[in-house]
Amino acid sequence: MDLNKLTIKNTKEMLSKKEIDAVNLLENYIDVIEEDDKREDKVYSYIELFKEDALNQAKVAQEKINKGDSLPLLGIPISIKDNLNYKGHLMTASSKMLDGYVASYTATVVERLINAGAVIIGRTNMDEYAMGGTTETSRYGVTRNPHNRKHVPGGSSGGAATSVAGNFALGALGSDTGGSIRQPASFCGIVGVKPTYGRVPRLGCIAMASSLDQVGPLAKDVYDAALMTSVIAGFNKKEATTINVEVPKYHENLNKNVKGINIGLPKEYFESDLINKDVRNNVERSIKLLEKNGANIVEISLPHCKYGSMVYSAVMSVEVASNMGRFDGIRYGYHPKGTFNLEEYYNKARGDSFEFETQARILFGSLLAGSKYFESHYEHALKVRRLMQLDFEKAFEKVDAIISPTTPVVASLLGTRDQTDSELSFLADSYTSNINLVGLPAISVPCGFDSNNMPVGLQVVAKNFDEQMMFNVAYAHELLFNE
Ligand code: GLN
Repeated sequence: MDLNKLTIKNTKEMLSKKEIDAVNLLENYIDVIEEDDKREDKVYSYIELFKEDALNQAKVAQEKINKGDSLPLLGIPISIKDNLNYKGHLMTASSKMLDGYVASYTATVVERLINAGAVIIGRTNMDEYAMGGTTETSRYGVTRNPHNRKHVPGGSSGGAATSVAGNFALGALGSDTGGSIRQPASFCGIVGVKPTYGRVPRLGCIAMASSLDQVGPLAKDVYDAALMTSVIAGFNKKEATTINVEVPKYHENLNKNVKGINIGLPKEYFESDLINKDVRNNVERSIKLLEKNGANIVEISLPHCKYGSMVYSAVMSVEVASNMGRFDGIRYGYHPKGTFNLEEYYNKARGDSFEFETQARILFGSLLAGSKYFESHYEHALKVRRLMQLDFEKAFEKVDAIISPTTPVVASLLGTRDQTDSELSFLADSYTSNINLVGLPAISVPCGFDSNNMPVGLQVVAKNFDEQMMFNVAYAHELLFNE
């Protein structure tokens, strides 16, 4: 079985024609993962494989297939990021703090995958609590980019992206607060989607920054990503932030015709010297392809987005500081041993078990949430966030979609990221994190390689709840690009 050639779409066809068997398919994946794990430079997508449960799910799926049942993901091996609760299974968010924590319920998105017949193959490595862009802040080891194992896979959903790019799963769920699905998808040469804020339930996904977080899929192509999105999207009555808007079957409505579609290019992004030359060349070639096929390319302006990385760092850190308050060493996971008073206990528990990056963000967020800086920094950031939203609203009066590089750079070498230079990494994340700040849906699709053969990603953004337009433009690009 050549796993490299499989997509969700063609695997479903092969399963229903009985050309392959769901149990055999899963075993193939497990063999490949275990073989890779023996290498010194293993990719390390998974913190844990859920072998026994996955085998049972595959058996049940095969019985259903034999009976002629059909479900959107029947028998398809999918990985989940280690910040999604799956009842009875360990979940750590790659943090020592949650060592040994067993989920007591299942995240709505995972439940929806299971109801759609998916086989949940394992939980994937990530930056601790999803804070980072390289997967290097994980407590559980380094994940390598399958394109070149000397490079990072991106993050924070680095395990998720490599599980798909390395042929260790057919699809993955990740989470995206400032780019954590799209950036690793771009670095690993696959497709990654951040749906509209409120489109996909967050219940059961560990909160990083609640006004920015969305769960989404990573997949090999646009069709598979569209299919997975249609499975996980939709209202959840237990959640105030999911919105009751009908979910189309995106994958069935894909339209490759871009004739007459107006596509905006943010002039500030393209003027920036942040963009690496190879990234720029690849993205410009993709824009020309779309234009040649009838899309109208329009210059737009997003004047407040130059403040995006600062706004993101303020809003995200304040929300992180608040969300991380629950990890006190008493309720979950890690309990330091010894005799302490309460304050010493908190210090020990949190000091011992949080990575540098997590601690830095909690400190910074707590500072901005305090009375001294609240108005001047945090409230100010919220005002600029609103102005950024207005910039996008205005742009979308003229265009149907907006295109840019997903990130201005490609995957860096492992170990080269300066842990203390968060300003630079927030700046590099700003094309993705701006989109979380304004809530819009966005996808990253492969659009070429740099001179070292590292993948480059193109980001397509659409209006709120217009995932269909986002998928259509991405789909058109994919077909034209692969012609
Ligand atoms: N890299 C960004 C950060 O570290 C985004 C993280 C995310 O989307 N979870 O904040």
